[in-house]
Amino acid sequence: ANQKGGVGKTTTTINLGAALVETGRKVLLVDFDPQGSLSVGLGINPHTLNQSVYNLLLSREYSFDEVVLSSAIDGMDILPANIDLSAAEVQLVSEVARELTLKRVLDRVRDRYDFILIDCAPSLGLLTVNALTASDKVLIPLECEFFALRGVAMLTDTIAKVQDRLNADLELLGIVATMFDSRTLHSREVLARVLEAFGETVFHTVIRRTVKFPETTVAGEPITTYASASQAADSYRMLAREVLARCHAG
Ligand code: ADP
Ligand code: MG
Repeated sequence: ANQKGGVGKTTTTINLGAALVETGRKVLLVDFDPQGSLSVGLGINPHTLNQSVYNLLLSREYSFDEVVLSSAIDGMDILPANIDLSAAEVQLVSEVARELTLKRVLDRVRDRYDFILIDCAPSLGLLTVNALTASDKVLIPLECEFFALRGVAMLTDTIAKVQDRLNADLELLGIVATMFDSRTLHSREVLARVLEAFGETVFHTVIRRTVKFPETTVAGEPITTYASASQAADSYRMLAREVLARCHAG
């Protein structure tokens, strides 16, 4: 989660997911952004979907198995989304236990997967609160850009409120620095400030800026298959190892 757009949430969800699959884990990716970028990034056209995560949230007539899709990556399933999901933000407001809606959907299938990764929308609205309520851990991507830290207090405040009121089990898994450009002093300075502010919470793995990531979106596949031998792919494999270590330690 990060209410800022363009910080690498979707890229991290897809590629961390794919890297976890390479270690033999079974992974479900949940597209929880009405933009449907995660779905697009895995080669799914959101406009042509007959059903999506929206239907699971708001109707009892659909089963998980009717909505879930298997991706081209063996062991990785996807719960797709499209613009319909933006209506859920409004419609959920009048539901009983509106913050628990996604949790109810996912609790039924969580024993089928080793990891369920939820790609949040760039907002702190009801959809993101649903995602935080359904989760054991939250991972925050932060871009190595000037205003990266702006808004993080609001995000951690939302996380604290969800911990207090809805999901006492929620933990901050870590912060991952993205879009790092080692050639610029600026990027190095921002990274230093992030480390200063968050210390050990920050993953050792830093995701560098490379055009390979936008390319994967066009290709509709993760970096781990699109450019398997690249440094970019390896960085998400390293992140996956760190995530596994933190999950097992916790
Ligand atoms: P968010 O989901 O937070 O809005 P995205 O993952 O969609 O962010 O990334 C925003 C844009 O930046 C996308 O076009 C994506 O391809 C690109 N991008 C993501 N990570 C990187 C990176 N490490 N280097 C270069 N471009 C990236
Ligand atoms: Mg996104």
